[in-house]
Amino acid sequence: LPVVAIVGRPNVGKSTLFNRLVGRRQALVADTPGVTRDRKEGLALVRGRYVRLIDTAGLEEAAPETLFGRMRASSEGAVADASLVLFCIDARAGITPSDEHFAQWVRRQNRPILLIANKAEGRLGAASALEAYSLGLGEPLAVSAEHGEGLADLMAEIVDHLPPEPEPVDFMADAFGEDMFEGEGEEGEVVLPARPPGPMRIAIVGRPNAGKSTLMNALLGEERMITGPEPGLTRDSIAATLFDDGDQFEIVDTAGLRRKARIDEALEKMSVSASIEALKMAEVAVLVLDATLGVHEQDLQIARLIEREGRACVLALNKWDVVEDRNATRKAILDRLSISLAQMRGVPVVTFSALTGAGVQRLLPAVRDACTVWNARVPTGELNRWFESMLERHAPPLVDGRRLKLRYMTQVKSRPPTFVLFGTRAELLPDDYKRYLVNGMRETFDLPGVPIRLQLRGTK
Ligand code: GDP
Repeated sequence: LPVVAIVGRPNVGKSTLFNRLVGRRQALVADTPGVTRDRKEGLALVRGRYVRLIDTAGLEEAAPETLFGRMRASSEGAVADASLVLFCIDARAGITPSDEHFAQWVRRQNRPILLIANKAEGRLGAASALEAYSLGLGEPLAVSAEHGEGLADLMAEIVDHLPPEPEPVDFMADAFGEDMFEGEGEEGEVVLPARPPGPMRIAIVGRPNAGKSTLMNALLGEERMITGPEPGLTRDSIAATLFDDGDQFEIVDTAGLRRKARIDEALEKMSVSASIEALKMAEVAVLVLDATLGVHEQDLQIARLIEREGRACVLALNKWDVVEDRNATRKAILDRLSISLAQMRGVPVVTFSALTGAGVQRLLPAVRDACTVWNARVPTGELNRWFESMLERHAPPLVDGRRLKLRYMTQVKSRPPTFVLFGTRAELLPDDYKRYLVNGMRETFDLPGVPIRLQLRGTK
């Protein structure tokens, strides 16, 4: 993920800006001793792009004579890693010598910089915003982190300054070849290939202490066979292979298998990048929740990543040994998840205790089923008979006074199931009608726990 570093002298409002941008995702902020003291990290979703936001705080107590050195020391790493630096000044205080001194240093680091004049609520600080040009960091952007003003512009600027989003490295797509459907006739029956031979790949994800490591140990037992870094896996990831009922599974793990007691372990374990990395390599994500704690924002966030990466999901409710009212717990968790995310409707659920091992044997069969659904293919004839009945039940909406004419659908891809809907001005189809179709497909064709992609293609 691209790194965005917030820098500036003490009290210009870096932390407030950080909190604004990270929002409720702040749960991800690490509080490992030694890590947070001068570096706070969070995940921010900026106009649809995830960035790792770093706040270089913790300088507030520095004695003035050592201030520059300490600013520099705490910012050095963050700036070196950054794709974009947000250089903050206090618009009300104006430009101070330490702003100038620090700006000179930051400029020399050769990173794209956005100059932020904070505390500029109302029209405050218009004068120093002009003065800020002298820093040589380009045009200042006036915001008020505290009052939430100017943030939309700021986010637009951030996205504009990020390096272009890399093409997703999709292991499964590489294995299958993404272009295989090119040149198919529109009406033609598309033949999707079967799943490739080889182990089913699983990512075990979840927030810290959900019990991922305990689950790994329960699954691997004594016969563990851990295969080291292999080509295609990142340096830090490890795959463990296991067999169940004749099928081979591979658990892709980028964090959980590592030795404990590393100083950055907590940071590592909750690192979203690690989860994304593991998800990219996997077909099925096992989302582990501590059932005694219910659903938290961070769980939803990981669930959203699973959907975004297009992976099948099996929901693992762990610590079932200490859950008191099992029915109520299960219902509360599922209700919360399905309200927030379409993919979670009807998601396969396995309850177990990783600690005692009770119920863990149900996990791999559920993974196998989820993998089948992820690879599912709906025949075009059947799909369109269903599609017509959906159109009859709810006519497509009017757009600009004219009814959209939707013609037919076809599945162009599996892993995850991906459909194209053709029609005159089909690209204008409103989201609620899309949702109606996607939810209908999920039920009718029995596609629980997988993201369903629906692409719209206008025809003449
Ligand atoms: P991770 O951060 O997700 O890898 O979580 P760990 O596997 O390190 O587990 C966190 C804590 O929860 C440890 O103290 C485990 O012993 C405990 N734990 C894990 N699974 C269970 C379970 O099924 N039941 C109970 N009661 N405790 C569990």
